[in-house]
Amino acid sequence: MTDPLFKRVALIGIGLIGSSLAHNIRAHKLAGHIAISTRRSETLARAEELGLGDSYHLEAAEAVKDADLVILCVPVGSCGAVTKEIALALMAGAIVSDVGSVKGSVIQQMRPHLPDSVHFVPAHPIAGTEQSGPDAGFLELFENRWCILTPVEGTDPEATERLRRFWEACGSTVETMTAEHHDLVLAIVSHVPHLIAYNIVGTAADLETVTQQEVVKFSASGFRDFTRIAASDPTMWRDVFLTNRDAVLEMLARFSEDLASLQRAIRWGDGDALFDLFTRTRAIRRGIVEAGQDTAKPDFGRDHTRAPAGKS
Ligand code: NAP
Repeated sequence: MTDPLFKRVALIGIGLIGSSLAHNIRAHKLAGHIAISTRRSETLARAEELGLGDSYHLEAAEAVKDADLVILCVPVGSCGAVTKEIALALMAGAIVSDVGSVKGSVIQQMRPHLPDSVHFVPAHPIAGTEQSGPDAGFLELFENRWCILTPVEGTDPEATERLRRFWEACGSTVETMTAEHHDLVLAIVSHVPHLIAYNIVGTAADLETVTQQEVVKFSASGFRDFTRIAASDPTMWRDVFLTNRDAVLEMLARFSEDLASLQRAIRWGDGDALFDLFTRTRAIRRGIVEAGQDTAKPDFGRDHTRAPAGKS
């Protein structure tokens, strides 16, 4: 039998991502011990009921003691405060990582608190759902998904390599890039789409001429897919927009320009412009399916046989 990759992994934060990691560490035997810490006693008790770890701590500093891998799975905006809490208890040689959706800000917040004796390798699994909390996690979350590592200058390549192996064992394909580039890419593929979803669902909720009842009743015609994204965790997404401000604003400016040209095409009846764009976007969807990032089944594979008529 081979030794696990890590002796003790400390998961600080045990929501969707933390608990999915716990399932993976257990199933793939990636650590000898899983130490779990979270802020509220109710969440910790639930993690214990679910049997997600081997030890449970309200004090994050207790969990990281003797851990050779520490992963912060908390909202981006709280990474600095949590790092401050654990800094003195970190074991020399430990790898400290996170799963935050924004990387530049996480590095800015965490780095000043970390002792030189640890290896800091920030990470972002591009995998998630709109659910939160320790019950939301599941083993397959990271399977066939990307995980981006953004090691800072001077990081020991051996530490990056160990973390790469960890994420690969969770089923992910790992890519390395700078934090700055990560934040720009994620702004367009994730952050701006979430903002659009929040905005369109918000607009529909505020409409006076179309009733909310009608919005819900006829939602299957497109609106429903936005509501899934717009149901994502408010704390997490507030932090994403506050911490990736520059990249989001840059992408949003591009988006607004393109929206204005679509508006013009509709106003002037420029069907060719609309048709050309919709043809290009269809090809992008095909590319995503071909890359194995989504199902090829119509309507995301939803089961239409079970939905009662008029309630789909
Ligand atoms: P989640 O399900 O809401 O869980 C959040 C965890 O962080 C809970 O254990 C919570 O503790 C703790 N927490 C919340 N606020 C805190 C604070 N101010 N200080 C300390 N701990 C706090 O969140 P998640 O979806 O797992 O997201 C965690 C991280 O993963 C975020 O940085 C997010 O950007 C990143 N991420 C999320 C997704 C996604 O789709 N959800 C995908 C990729 C990456 P209590 O319950 O005890 O309060």
